[in-house]
Amino acid sequence: MTDTLIPEIDESKAAIERLGLRTQAFIDGEFHDAISGRRYMTENPATGQPIAEIAEGGPADVDAAVAAARRAADDGRWSRLSPGDRKRILVRWADLIEGDARELGLIETIDSGKPITDTIGLDMPETAGCIRWHAEAADKLYGQVAPSPEGTVATITREPVGVVGAVIPWNYPAQMAAWKLGPALATGNTVVIKPASTTSLSLLRIAELGSEAGLPDGVLNVVTGPGDVVGEAIGRHPDIDCLTFTGSTEVGRRFLHYAADTNLKRVLLELGGKSPQLVFDDVTDLEGIAANVAVAIFWNMGENCSAGSRLIVHRSVKDRLLEAVRAELRNWPVGDPLDPATRIGALVSRGHMEKVLRYVRIGREEGARVVTGGERILEETGGWFVPPTIFDGVRNDMTIAREEIFGPVLSVIEFDTEAEAIALANDTPYGLAASLYTDNLNVAHRVARALRAGVVGVNAYSEGDMTTPFGGYKLSGFGGHDKSVHAHDQYTETKTTWIQLRSG
Ligand code: NDP
Repeated sequence: MTDTLIPEIDESKAAIERLGLRTQAFIDGEFHDAISGRRYMTENPATGQPIAEIAEGGPADVDAAVAAARRAADDGRWSRLSPGDRKRILVRWADLIEGDARELGLIETIDSGKPITDTIGLDMPETAGCIRWHAEAADKLYGQVAPSPEGTVATITREPVGVVGAVIPWNYPAQMAAWKLGPALATGNTVVIKPASTTSLSLLRIAELGSEAGLPDGVLNVVTGPGDVVGEAIGRHPDIDCLTFTGSTEVGRRFLHYAADTNLKRVLLELGGKSPQLVFDDVTDLEGIAANVAVAIFWNMGENCSAGSRLIVHRSVKDRLLEAVRAELRNWPVGDPLDPATRIGALVSRGHMEKVLRYVRIGREEGARVVTGGERILEETGGWFVPPTIFDGVRNDMTIAREEIFGPVLSVIEFDTEAEAIALANDTPYGLAASLYTDNLNVAHRVARALRAGVVGVNAYSEGDMTTPFGGYKLSGFGGHDKSVHAHDQYTETKTTWIQLRSG
């Protein structure tokens, strides 16, 4: 593995230089150093080597970005364009992102450790697809005329909220940005967005492409820097009208405080998960289910809010299913994210890898049994690699079954009855996603209804597509949904206009 890994990384150094990375904050249509002049280093998680220094913004940079976004919101340079004109600019932007998918995918891979086949093949097309989908909807959404009494006309229309502040995580840096920017911009808002400090590079380049596509200055502003400084300054800013956040439940709670302590801005939260995958005893296609189970927990190194981290399986099929999952893992090589054969790259940072390994230790100490994985690998690369790890003999009250690990760690829990399966699945503080496998239509409907989760996949691991809303119950968040036209609603105000007609 080392032999193939190191030459690939050496080659990529020249490639990195050719990429001409953007490393400054993007405010009012221009790149700027942080006002303090401070910078911080971002690293390649697959090598631990530095990539580039990035502007370390602070509250003054957030003030400048919000002032630019406010000017752009108030003078209507974006909101008063016809929806069709906004659509054309956003579609052009999506086309540019798609056209640069290889370059953007490479940036994403070296910055985040995600496999290059995913970043080029999925993340960038889906980023472009998301922006295009919301753009296309911009001139197809109608207001309403209320059934008001004779002599009156009452219209119910939607208007942009104004300035949206967005704070996003590192697991899908470009895609999470698009999930916020697509609907917020399509509905005529202006935005100040903070990427995660570990993975800011792709969004800076995507913002530049936005300008090239014709986004007016000040409509999209990107401020880089630490969450507890830049993120908090966005959260507390009195001139921001709406906050949209994806990340940990702990930080999500803070956003509620930020809003409550300041101007009661609207807060949209998409937070963590501990999603169940239920497998009933009537299933026949164990290989197919095993392939889905592996995607659910090992795709993106398990760094996925909807990861199916609890496999709740009928006792009678557990051994055969585990065998099939282990066989499936032969199709999941771990290693150099720049190698097109790799399906599991590096975890995002040393700190995150240590967190994942700490959970593995706790799992062992609490009595669960490691079936495969469980140790750091490829240490000689300098990168943060953990292979697919499966714990058998897990009880749902164990730490590894309760807390979000956000890594490639699957907990296997057995059940005997349908009622027990449902109770185990719902016995979690989270409620983001769930999947269930059965060949029995009655079980499928009964269980899908009983699961307390925002997205339920039946005989599939799925987050739906751009046409369906994504968001969770309980500690997985509230206040809104990403994707679909529901996402448009959350970035708009509802206005009633009541018109009294004079009698003729
Ligand atoms: P965080 O929730 O800390 O980070 C998400 C975003 O919030 C980042 O942009 C971060 O900035 C920012 N942020 C951090 N602290 C603050 C703050 N005090 N005020 C405002 N913004 C802040 O997630 P982590 O990156 O630390 O990951 C921790 C855990 O969160 C993971 O292990 C996982 O369990 C969960 N998580 C869940 C995600 C999801 O999609 N549901 C996504 C990512 C993480 P910065 O990067 O500069 O710290």
